[in-house]
Amino acid sequence: MNAVTPFAVPQDSPFGPDNLPYGVFSTAGGPRRLGVAYGDHVLDVGAAARATGAAGELAGLLEAPSLNPLLEAGRPAWRQARAAITAWVTAEEHRAAVGPCLVPRGEVTLHLPFEVADYVDFYASEHHAANLGRIFRPGAEPLTPNWKHLPIGYHGRAGTVVVSGTPVVRPSGQRKAPAEPAPSYGPSQRLDIEAEVGFVVGAPTPLGERVELRDADRHVFGVCLVNDWSARDLQAWEYVPLGPFLGKSFATSVSPWVVPLDALTHARIEPPARDTEPLPYLDDRSARPPSGLDIALEVRLNGHPVSRPPFAAMYWTYAQMLAHMTVNGASLRAGDLFASGTVSGPDRDTRGALIELTWNGEQPLELPDGTTRAFLQDGDEITITATAPGPNGTRIGFGEVTGRISPAR
Ligand code: CA
Repeated sequence: MNAVTPFAVPQDSPFGPDNLPYGVFSTAGGPRRLGVAYGDHVLDVGAAARATGAAGELAGLLEAPSLNPLLEAGRPAWRQARAAITAWVTAEEHRAAVGPCLVPRGEVTLHLPFEVADYVDFYASEHHAANLGRIFRPGAEPLTPNWKHLPIGYHGRAGTVVVSGTPVVRPSGQRKAPAEPAPSYGPSQRLDIEAEVGFVVGAPTPLGERVELRDADRHVFGVCLVNDWSARDLQAWEYVPLGPFLGKSFATSVSPWVVPLDALTHARIEPPARDTEPLPYLDDRSARPPSGLDIALEVRLNGHPVSRPPFAAMYWTYAQMLAHMTVNGASLRAGDLFASGTVSGPDRDTRGALIELTWNGEQPLELPDGTTRAFLQDGDEITITATAPGPNGTRIGFGEVTGRISPAR
């Protein structure tokens, strides 16, 4: 960039001028405002729009207390907003006007960045699906017959998607181990995580229309981190034949920052080689640019790194997930969230769930404090972070999604 950088951030900042992720913040009990993370600050974009005399339509979108109006406005508006905000933080002419709109990150409270419309969770990692197949169906084919023909998913509970930092109350419910004669009710004994990447839908579609693979980027605004908390004992007893229900719906945590897809240009890669020819509506072999994303995740348990799942290894891409999710004519709404499913790589220390990391509890993790974990204990804190390549050797940061387990009520 040739312009002088008035609000310079270090080259290694995860929130440099090429990222500019959106979130919703407040200060000292004040109203919620739309912000963009920049270095160690949050830019109040509504205030910056007013201070710089931005066009009325753009200013209106940025002055909203949620990302949803901008989401709904579609890609031309997303580009216009990104260009304006980039200029505000990099061009000398805006320094005096924009400077007062930067709030130190330590002074803000971050909220859910968008109102979640519908929530869908996929199962797009071959390594994760195969590991669970080996754990639950030993001796059988690890993958179900449909797995390589369609991205498997289910509809989750949008109303219990919570922002990072929200305590997660240990869920109670029905469970029955195979050896037990009857089900019992009580707090989950096998509370787990699923480290995932979430995609935030912007531009809506009318009922009856599908989104073609090549049009995915018209509808996907950006990316966040997701922890799909999972009670494995509740899940195991309830999931046949209709899939996940109460073992998942008690809470799903998301990171407070939504990284625009436009910030991930340098992270785009070919998905891994696939050995099954997809039906034409899922065939992305000639898609340019490719929709694989080189996002490197890290999972920490009580501050101790336990896994580094590679999103680059995912079998199905976000464009294929979106094409499949709408192929029956189901409409999209601004604020729809679809998540990738657990991100797991080929190696043990790249698995994104405790059930895989501990092989269903048989090989507990050893933590530096001398304790071991098969599944989560009350008071445990899980933090998922991620970065992706940016231009000129920079890293695009996703911030973090964190949550601590509270005792059952
Ligand atoms: Ca999941």
